[in-house]
Amino acid sequence: MIRASLIALSQNARAKRFVLSNRLARRTARRFVAGEDLDDAVAAARAANEAGLKVSLDFLGENVATREAAERAREMYQGVFERIAREKLDANVSLKLTQLGMDFGEDFCREQMLPIVKHAESLGNFVRMDMEGSAYTQRTVDMALGLRRESAAVGTVIQSYLHRSEGDIRALVAVGCRIRLCKGAYLEPPEIAYAGKKDVDANYVKLMRILLPSGVYHGIATHDPAMIAATRQFAEEQKIAKDKFEFQMLYGIRPDLQRELIREGYRMRVYIPYGRDWFPYFMRRLAERPANLMFIARNVFR
Ligand SMILES: Cc1cc2nc3c(=O)[nH]c(=O)nc-3n(C[C@H](O)[C@H](O)[C@H](O)COP(=O)(O)OP(=O)(O)OC[C@H]3O[C@@H](n4cnc5c(N)ncnc54)[C@H](O)[C@@H]3O)c2cc1C
Repeated sequence: MIRASLIALSQNARAKRFVLSNRLARRTARRFVAGEDLDDAVAAARAANEAGLKVSLDFLGENVATREAAERAREMYQGVFERIAREKLDANVSLKLTQLGMDFGEDFCREQMLPIVKHAESLGNFVRMDMEGSAYTQRTVDMALGLRRESAAVGTVIQSYLHRSEGDIRALVAVGCRIRLCKGAYLEPPEIAYAGKKDVDANYVKLMRILLPSGVYHGIATHDPAMIAATRQFAEEQKIAKDKFEFQMLYGIRPDLQRELIREGYRMRVYIPYGRDWFPYFMRRLAERPANLMFIARNVFR
């Protein structure tokens, strides 16, 4: 119930105005978002690198309202790659296709994406297309399949809560596409998605077992100790070396576990979001763990 309401509110303009003007909410958001500027993200990335973590930088934004905004996002990402190279950061980029204009058509979006991918490739870097709500799943998979034909510097994300994901993974792996496996952060109907944690988790483990032996470098994105244990156990059984895949977690969530995995010799990448458009991202993080909401509520009453 709470999860559904929070995800629904993430699309609500009045809720957005309220949260953005609330000092406590803004302060809480800083736990999950590195700051509003690229400088903030670079500082967070440098600190993460110094602690042995790899990074993925995400300039927050989704469902942009105009083509011009999508073009600005494209230019912004070109600058991010330059900055990563200049600062010698161990970082790649994550972005959302609706930030690059997917709502204005697949052709327009591809025109935005191709130069980003080529630029990443020219700098020896990599761009990952996040997976959004199910209205975009097919278009994101298609974009990944198409762009992967042009370059190996692009990958995408698959969500274990969707029934269709095994088929998508098999199609993407067949063209050598790098995949980040996550559980899924949107609100999806039971006709297309598993509703219970048990089923989502069981599918996660099943998909992880397809990804790891595929010979492609994938990301296992989760904070769930059970998913991490299952991955470690499977990799050991299959004699898959620790440098053949990476774990991924979100900035501000389970930093203790992030460091523990590093100490044990695993690769870990932290996803660092930054920018002014943090509201929907923040609401999805609250939805994942209602205790985060309790933290805000307690402080309000205090
Ligand atoms: C690197 C990365 C990239 C992602 N990219 C995408 C994407 O492209 N598309 C997409 O739909 N989803 C994405 N997600 C989100 C993902 O789908 C899940 O919603 C999220 O990771 C929570 O699932 P979990 O695997 O951590 O397991 P859960 O079972 O949800 O959580 C396990 C434990 O992790 C901790 N935890 C999880 N979430 C939080 C939180 N918000 N605050 C505090 N503690 C928390 C808690 O201790 C919880 O008990 C991404 C996640 C990661 C880590």
